[in-house]
Amino acid sequence: MIKRAYIDLEVCSQSDDCSARQHCAKEAINFEDGKIYINQYCNGCGKCIKHCSNRAIKLV
Ligand code: SF4
Repeated sequence: MIKRAYIDLEVCSQSDDCSARQHCAKEAINFEDGKIYINQYCNGCGKCIKHCSNRAIKLV
């Protein structure tokens, strides 16, 4: 089973300046109504994890 990114919203600062978001080649980290979420295009590559300064992203 393919893993996908999961954002812990209790840890995430939910900034639209998210560095992890800028490094996702699939544009899978999105904002809507001020909320961050992972969309269906996430392929579980894990690149976003090292770019999150809050360590809010995990693969599950
Ligand atoms: S795991 Fe890869 S595809 Fe999924 S959100 Fe992170 S960088 Fe994007």
